[in-house]
Amino acid sequence: MNAERVDAYKCDICGTTYITKLMAEKCCEKKHCKYCGKELPHKYYFLACPNCREKHKYDNYRRMTYEEYIKEFPGYPVGYEDSDYIEFGMEDLLEYIRDDLSDEEWYKLQYVIGYDMYYAEIDAESVLENIEEDQYEDFEFDETGRKEFIDFVNKWNEKYRKPVYVEAKILIEIPKELKEALN
Ligand SMILES: [Zn+2]
Ligand SMILES: [Zn+2]
Repeated sequence: MNAERVDAYKCDICGTTYITKLMAEKCCEKKHCKYCGKELPHKYYFLACPNCREKHKYDNYRRMTYEEYIKEFPGYPVGYEDSDYIEFGMEDLLEYIRDDLSDEEWYKLQYVIGYDMYYAEIDAESVLENIEEDQYEDFEFDETGRKEFIDFVNKWNEKYRKPVYVEAKILIEIPKELKEALN
């Protein structure tokens, strides 16, 4: 293998090097919160300061009633903000939350979080491609062999894939009567 020299750029404040001038210039550039204009901490990843992030956290969330949620996402769990705790029914979740919160927090609580689901499964194409990429250029498995492998993996997926749930940008109104029952 031959090595070639490249020019790199260095941030003149912290000394980190980058491939492009633009990245080096942006490195220690001062950034400001998009809501309140306060200067953001160095190398801070978000566009808004921690306070404003908290305040605007749910701005782009969908709001739904529980009825709408179970109609649109049947069998999906509901969760409790900032915890990984999920339940497949609102009543079970509320019982858990009731135990976990102080009275004050409980009375203030109006929403729980909706979840999204995907399957943890094997991507046959990318398994093959990973192996092919590591070989000499233009290496490819036999076309029939590829197809057989993909068919096999698809059958395996149908049998063994597992649902994984992740927080979605959905706020679900807690039904009044369910909440009152626990007051
Ligand atoms: Zn820097
Ligand atoms: Zn701010």
